[in-house]
Amino acid sequence: MRKTVYFVEGDGIGPEIWGVTRVLLDKALEKSGCGGAIEWKEILAGEKAFKETGSYLPQETLETLRHAEYAIKGPLGTPVGGGIRSINVAFRQALDLYACIRPITYFEGLETPVKHPERVDMVVFRENVEDVYMGVEFMAGSPEAKRLIAFLREELGVKAAIEPDSAVGIKPMSARNSKRLIRKAIQYALDSGRPSVTLVHKGNIQKFTEGGFRQWGYDLAAEEFSGRWVPEEEAENAGGRLVLKDRIADNMFQQVLAKPELYSVLATPNLNGDYLSDALAAQVGGLGIAPGVNMSDTLAFYEATHGTAPRMAGKDIANPGSLILSGALMLERMGHVDAARRVRSAIAKAVALKKLPTDLARTLPGAQTLGCRAFGDLLGENL
Ligand code: NAD
Repeated sequence: MRKTVYFVEGDGIGPEIWGVTRVLLDKALEKSGCGGAIEWKEILAGEKAFKETGSYLPQETLETLRHAEYAIKGPLGTPVGGGIRSINVAFRQALDLYACIRPITYFEGLETPVKHPERVDMVVFRENVEDVYMGVEFMAGSPEAKRLIAFLREELGVKAAIEPDSAVGIKPMSARNSKRLIRKAIQYALDSGRPSVTLVHKGNIQKFTEGGFRQWGYDLAAEEFSGRWVPEEEAENAGGRLVLKDRIADNMFQQVLAKPELYSVLATPNLNGDYLSDALAAQVGGLGIAPGVNMSDTLAFYEATHGTAPRMAGKDIANPGSLILSGALMLERMGHVDAARRVRSAIAKAVALKKLPTDLARTLPGAQTLGCRAFGDLLGENL
């Protein structure tokens, strides 16, 4: 069945990497006998939207996406001069894209900063709408910040020595948002036969927010997945059941470097998930090839996980890999498993041939550097 996919080209290198991605995804579908399975429709956001409509994120775009099943976007810059804090964050909050999902696997042959990148095979599920990303904060010395500090001290009995001219921020984390994210992670692990889900949190210090995340995770698993998982202490007798464990965030950062093979699906609050998913991407070769998707209960919104790389824009030197691999995730979800496999194999073959865009070629001895379009052409041949 033909599916509509809405696309946002993106700013900076966005149009270049999107152009290559669209052609390649269509070609992969064609090769797998499903030519024309996607109807592409453009929607506006970012600078292009601002030029045409006077808004960085037009209501029409949000309205379209509220009724959409699939969308994909290039990177969007943060508008300079205020008005909107971040278009990406605005998308997530307006469309309730509560889960940011990033699979992290290694392509054999890529140069990486670690000795055994092949041991990394993880999928990060990051809570995407609350935590410090809600942006509830007040400027140092502002009347609001002073009032809030006074309220904390006088009304709530906070004894901590908060400097009176501090900037202050609020970190809301709820059972509802934590649980629906963790539900998605556990369901994914069960559906795909993954061995474990690890709840990542900083609950030793932030007992009610991050500690809540951990507790809500175990509560949810008991309430909704009873009999299908075991806690870590019983891992030896799991008998094929999922192992649910938890790690304090600072420990998790060293675990993914030292013992990555022990981890499979990670469920994290917003900020720690942001850090972890970029760090893990670097561990297997960089953001240039890290795919990602933001999901609500109705929409899967795929994206390039890097930014707009303004200094590369218009020079045909960017790596389209992240957006292409996000496109492969989308093909997979649509049921075009063969087309998705072809896209991944095409990238694996380019790595094996050592013909790569500059960000990957420059660290790989003997590699040939290809421009964005030439790399897209090579992938097309490899399909
Ligand atoms: P960036 O990701 O644009 O660049 C960081 C580094 O990675 C730069 O050296 C850049 O050249 C390189 N890089 C990024 N993408 C690349 C690619 N496809 N191929 C090769 N090299 C690549 O991050 P930044 O400089 O911090 O941010 C620039 C703008 O992008 C900002 O406005 C920021 O807000 C925005 N941003 C958007 C997203 C998004 O849309 N998801 C994510 C991060 C940053």
